[in-house]
Amino acid sequence: MTKNNNKAVVVFSGGQDSTTCLFWAKQHFSEIEAVTFNYGQRHSAELECAARITKDLSIKHHVQDMSLLNQLAPNALTRSDIDIASEEGKLPTTFVDGRNLLFLSFAAILAKQIGAKHIITGVCETDFSGYPDCRDVFIKSLNVTLNLSMDYQFVIETPLMWLNKAQAWKLADELGAFEYIRNNTLTCYNGILADGCGECPACILRKRGLEEYLLSK
Ligand SMILES: [Zn+2]
Repeated sequence: MTKNNNKAVVVFSGGQDSTTCLFWAKQHFSEIEAVTFNYGQRHSAELECAARITKDLSIKHHVQDMSLLNQLAPNALTRSDIDIASEEGKLPTTFVDGRNLLFLSFAAILAKQIGAKHIITGVCETDFSGYPDCRDVFIKSLNVTLNLSMDYQFVIETPLMWLNKAQAWKLADELGAFEYIRNNTLTCYNGILADGCGECPACILRKRGLEEYLLSK
């Protein structure tokens, strides 16, 4: 595979999806940097995990303070007194208004500063859990807006957009990162690394995809 000479910024949380994107980016771009947003996540484990993975992969890691987001929109990912729940017809309590809009906008500002055109995010429409800012149409719309706002040709890359959870594991495997991602990423809402608590919605989704992929091999 020929690498793109352009520089890329990966929006990185330390979870399965963004870590897969990090490995994907390593194969596609000659130079990458990662950015993690601190918005008062329930578990500092998430930030520690992101720092460890970027260190393992020798990738420059930026941590940006976004605590403002939590002040404006308290949610189940930041507040232990808000239960993780999803009700029929309502957005899940893990949804944070404006999150991807703000994260990608700040990632774009950073990208332009360091001379990167490509911004990589692990958003995915396939297992759409009701998050409006994970939809392809939103990403495309934001891409146009960012280009106009900064007069710069950003390219937002979404390698997982049309993959289901089993296919995301397959991609990790093809990138030679299956074991690493399985053992070193944090997806669990209860802050437990790797296979997690096994009971929260994030663990159930991750486990279902993993089992489906392992059965299909
Ligand atoms: Zn869990």
